[in-house]
Amino acid sequence: MKKVLILEDEENIRSFVVINLKRAGYAAIEAGTGEEALARLRDNPDIGVAILDIMLPDIDGFEVCRRIRATNKQIGIIMLTARTQEMDKVTGLMTGADDYVTKPFSPAELTARIDALYRRLGGDTNADVELLSQGPFVMNTRNHTLEKAGNRVRLTQVEFSILKLFMQNPGRALSREEILAAVWGRDYEGELKIVDVNIRRLRIKIEDDTTNPTYITTVWGFGYKWGA
Ligand code: CA
Repeated sequence: MKKVLILEDEENIRSFVVINLKRAGYAAIEAGTGEEALARLRDNPDIGVAILDIMLPDIDGFEVCRRIRATNKQIGIIMLTARTQEMDKVTGLMTGADDYVTKPFSPAELTARIDALYRRLGGDTNADVELLSQGPFVMNTRNHTLEKAGNRVRLTQVEFSILKLFMQNPGRALSREEILAAVWGRDYEGELKIVDVNIRRLRIKIEDDTTNPTYITTVWGFGYKWGA
């Protein structure tokens, strides 16, 4: 299994990333301090991508990045920048990072960046393609494509992420809060209504009859479910 290191001292953000890494098929190696991250990397030379927070209790993420790069040119490095400050990005890229993601980020965004780095490392093979097949639907989670009865259905990234969440949890009622957290990220401060708006759009694209949806069903007062 492909390994990803997540260095983040804030436990709730770290566990949120870990859950989503696992959901995306990666093995997550956790570290809460810079020194710990460097030790985990020594123990696991097969880690392909490292996600580094910048503000840490010991050495900062830029220094961790520098030290990793001093001995490892191969590994993909993504910096987690807390602010949208240009300086963070510039400094991160100067110290050898490949990419950066600004908090708050969506899990879909983060895993897309990790996937891209892994592809660049040449670590991607056909064996990693995950096909989710349910009823008339076939989803390819690598290519981000969806077919219904053999016909391509074009989805936005967000619609795709929602549908993927459903197809990975068939028959399970998902609360709107859970969908929001999984697709937009736990730090997203928008309204729950955005979930409903996207589900409405998704239904138009995938349901046979939107007035009587059978694939994405409503669980009144709670959320939605994939399948009746
Ligand atoms: Ca931090």
